Amino acid sequence: MSAASDEALRAELMQKKQELTERLGRISANLRRGYEADSKERAKELEDNEVVDALGNEARTEIAKISAALQRLDSGDYGTCTECGMPIEAGRLKVYPYADECIDCAEFDEKRRARQ
Ligand SMILES: [Zn+2]
Repeated sequence: MSAASDEALRAELMQKKQELTERLGRISANLRRGYEADSKERAKELEDNEVVDALGNEARTEIAKISAALQRLDSGDYGTCTECGMPIEAGRLKVYPYADECIDCAEFDEKRRARQ
């Protein structure tokens, strides 16, 4: 991978991370507002908060994955499957730039999760 596309990729990952961090901030603010609501609204608010919390967890997971991808860029391991050490398919990285596993390992994980 050339240095120029490395930089473009880094910029893209940083921007995505920034967006998610801002989204997470808004989600947290919504959560806090929910807890301050009066008791009549409380039940409904708490219900909403569960959804909001799930969204927050999703954002946090993605931020962690992007941070890991940025670290792999720095160490030169970017694009290598963390599971089997084989190169991750270029097409997969294009649609999912912070993928940490090749398609085979990702599918294997998915099947394993589905069986649980
Ligand atoms: Zn793999």
